[in-house]
Amino acid sequence: MEYRRMGKSGLQLSVLSFGSWITFGKQIDNSIADHLMSIAYDAGVNFFDNAEVYARGRSEIVMGEILKNKDWPRSSYCVSSKVFFGYEQGKPNQTGLSRKHIIEGCHAALKRLQLEYLDILFCHRPDKNTPIEETVLAMNTLIQQGKILYWGTSEWSSEEIMAAHAVAREYRLIGPAVEQPQYNMFERTKMEKDYLLLFRDYGMGTTIWSPLASGLLSGKYLSNPDTTNTRLGIEGLEWLKEKTLGDQQKTEKIKQLKIIANELGISLACLSIAWCIRNPNVTTAILGASKPEQLEENLKAMDVLPLLTHEIMEKIENVLKNKPVLPQY
Ligand code: NDP
Repeated sequence: MEYRRMGKSGLQLSVLSFGSWITFGKQIDNSIADHLMSIAYDAGVNFFDNAEVYARGRSEIVMGEILKNKDWPRSSYCVSSKVFFGYEQGKPNQTGLSRKHIIEGCHAALKRLQLEYLDILFCHRPDKNTPIEETVLAMNTLIQQGKILYWGTSEWSSEEIMAAHAVAREYRLIGPAVEQPQYNMFERTKMEKDYLLLFRDYGMGTTIWSPLASGLLSGKYLSNPDTTNTRLGIEGLEWLKEKTLGDQQKTEKIKQLKIIANELGISLACLSIAWCIRNPNVTTAILGASKPEQLEENLKAMDVLPLLTHEIMEKIENVLKNKPVLPQY
């Protein structure tokens, strides 16, 4: 396993990490979740991602119970949670980034995870109705209290993140150290264009999500479009199925990417994940898996990384044809 500094911070995260969205407390049994955590940890993964909203708090309860029963030193792994969407029924103050919800949300996450502190707490989305000063100050308070070690943003615009840094500088508070955006072969604009100044000028790290675009970039739907026993077949996730499978152009590109993977003698899942972590601005790619064999396969992306030469990257680019165009500085 390779470990990368989270931006300019001192924290080192495994370049492949593991998250629990949709799976823990919802799609899979707790015993499978336990097995997946062990596979990840044994492979050197040291970062586990969670959020208050995942299975409405149950994902954190499952992960907390698993961690409690392992004999892993607390110093050997990092755990995150995220506040914003809430885990209750959405009464005023049960969502958003007010001081009240940030502090209460953090306390509730710690309780569910049975941890004394979170390594990273993310603001899961920007809150247009709370002054940024309040959010930055609340995060700073949690850091000073030792309840969180770092804080980050998720799916904020670069302007919103810069506003948080400006407030932090003005009031001598600790600003966000990390952003959690979606990044994969089909979703590139934020990582490859919008955030470039954040990386250069603020030393932000990134924990990127959905490296396989919810399994699409494993290529499995090419041979078998049946979504039974996949996340896309789960009731209530019809929106995700439509978003994931609804674009014929993507299917055509996946067919061509599969040919490249075959030529290299590797799976398309590994190629897609390795492509993400080849970007040096990615601190860690958060893997998702509902089955042990998926995670075992995906962790092989580390070995695939050296195969992604300039020529192979060009070949992939010629298939994707979606490289964000940078402004002429
Ligand atoms: P992926 O895009 O990698 O999707 C993972 C899913 O794809 C698996 O659960 C599985 O689903 C399928 N899959 C994985 N590997 C394979 C394989 N080798 N072959 C075939 N199918 C495979 O990641 P996620 O979307 O799960 O995101 C990863 C993590 O990122 C989440 O757990 C969460 O921690 C975080 N995240 C953060 C968000 C944010 O807003 N900050 C949003 C979303 C995720 P199936 O059961 O269908 O087979």
